Amino acid sequence: MVFSDGLNLIPGGKDMASKLKVLLSQEEIKEKVRYLAELVSRDYQGKAPLLICVLKGAVVFLSDLIRNLEIPVEVDFMAVSSYGNSTITSGVVRILKDLETGIDNKDILIVEDIIDTGLTLSYLKENLLSRNPRSLKIITLLDKPERRVVDIEPDYCGFCIPDEFVVGYGLDFNEKYRNLPDICILLEFQ
Ligand code: 5GP
Repeated sequence: MVFSDGLNLIPGGKDMASKLKVLLSQEEIKEKVRYLAELVSRDYQGKAPLLICVLKGAVVFLSDLIRNLEIPVEVDFMAVSSYGNSTITSGVVRILKDLETGIDNKDILIVEDIIDTGLTLSYLKENLLSRNPRSLKIITLLDKPERRVVDIEPDYCGFCIPDEFVVGYGLDFNEKYRNLPDICILLEFQ
């Protein structure tokens, strides 16, 4: 088990490290984010899309993504919660924090950390479409296509990953591990 930035970032230190396995290193992530930013910059040439970041997990991805973009952008945040525990999505979604402005006639890019069953994003997409944006696309860093229960696909995707619960690079388990620079599989839940 090797962490690029040391065990001191992991709650529980060395003991907890044995419960984590690196799936995507920070170098791989950095390279992919640059690539995604190139695609987005190219596709939105001459436009200034509003990036809607889904809190909290996508914050790290958003902050790296926008610094690699070569187009003007606006940023806003939404927080949603799915009823249920922290590892299983129920499909019933509640808006905890809504956008600050209307999106009528704007080009919207939803920024997600991970798509799992697709239920959260499906709800969010329908909700935002009802507000009449000019266009709406989805970018996600991670996708677990095996787990999908609704028909929804991202327009841009960083990595397709296996059906494992991952943490780091913004993703948490019970609010822990968000600050890990790598994306890791959580091998034990406690
Ligand atoms: P979905 O509605 O697509 O099933 O779930 C989306 C949300 O569930 C994500 O935005 C994320 O908050 C959470 N989620 C799904 N899979 C994982 C995972 O492997 N790790 C973490 N930390 N959260 C996940």
